[in-house]
Amino acid sequence: SIPVAIVAGIGRGAKDGILIKGGEFLETSARISAVALDKTGTLTEGRPHLTDVSVLDPAHSRAEVLGWAARAEAGSEHPLARPLIEAADAEGLAIAGLPEHTEPVPGKGVVATVEGRRVAVGNLPLLADEGIAEDRGAAEEVARLAGLGRTPMAIALDGEVIGVVAVADRLRTDASEMIARLHARGVKKVVILTGDDERVARAVAAEVGVDEVRAQLLPEDKLDAVRALQAEGHTVAMVGDGVNDAPALATADIGVAMGAAGTGVAIETADIALMKDDLLKLPEAVGLARRTVRVMH
Ligand code: ADP
Ligand code: MG
Repeated sequence: SIPVAIVAGIGRGAKDGILIKGGEFLETSARISAVALDKTGTLTEGRPHLTDVSVLDPAHSRAEVLGWAARAEAGSEHPLARPLIEAADAEGLAIAGLPEHTEPVPGKGVVATVEGRRVAVGNLPLLADEGIAEDRGAAEEVARLAGLGRTPMAIALDGEVIGVVAVADRLRTDASEMIARLHARGVKKVVILTGDDERVARAVAAEVGVDEVRAQLLPEDKLDAVRALQAEGHTVAMVGDGVNDAPALATADIGVAMGAAGTGVAIETADIALMKDDLLKLPEAVGLARRTVRVMH
């Protein structure tokens, strides 16, 4: 039978918006020694806003670059899609309906068919996947914007780069405090695992005080990073919003989904779901687990 302390601990968590999906997860949480954090949508608000539209092909206007990007993203659920659609909307660019076809490319971007044209929106590896020859102008503009801590996305129309747009996301106000409290509760290693650009990731890492940062990861690289921490002997919690974190969340000893920001899939597959969009619930969950287990021994 399940020890009374565990039942009580799960009950206390639930009352506090910490949904623990079983007694074994509460016991494992007491041993968490490493925490891996997704960046976009987890450490940041996940509500980035448009900062730049750079035209790289003089045959196209600023409105066209933003317009094609927004139309291509109209069928996308990625957090980077919304600021492009909202900005296009605010600038009065008509976006009539969904693309004929949308294909998300995890960790890279999206490829869509819009009015019979092939539009790719994403990072430089996506352009390479599209068979587009290295574009010096695009690479330089991407590097410049990333150096400013923004997230750049190149736009290709029928295999030609026409421009780069960039968005910037705000750190959650409680991100640094959460990491400090995890360390205070004895978590030895806090790492950021992100698909985003190295420079953007470093800027965020420096600001919040994590021990390690791994950038430009594909979903399977996040999984490998979790396995590597486990191989070092760590009990690993992974916190993600589910957009590209599903394999890592499943592999971690404890998969944690964030409430309001998380996708339905993440909440369902997580071992612990934090029902409020409050990062401090994570150190609170670790504290609850440690106290509960202590009472049992
Ligand atoms: P994170 O791991 O930080 O949550 P993702 O793996 O979801 O980030 O995305 C990694 C990178 O891939 C983004 O920074 C962006 O360059 C590109 N990308 C992914 N999805 C999209 C999209 N729908 N539109 C544009 N770019 C995208
Ligand atoms: Mg994410």
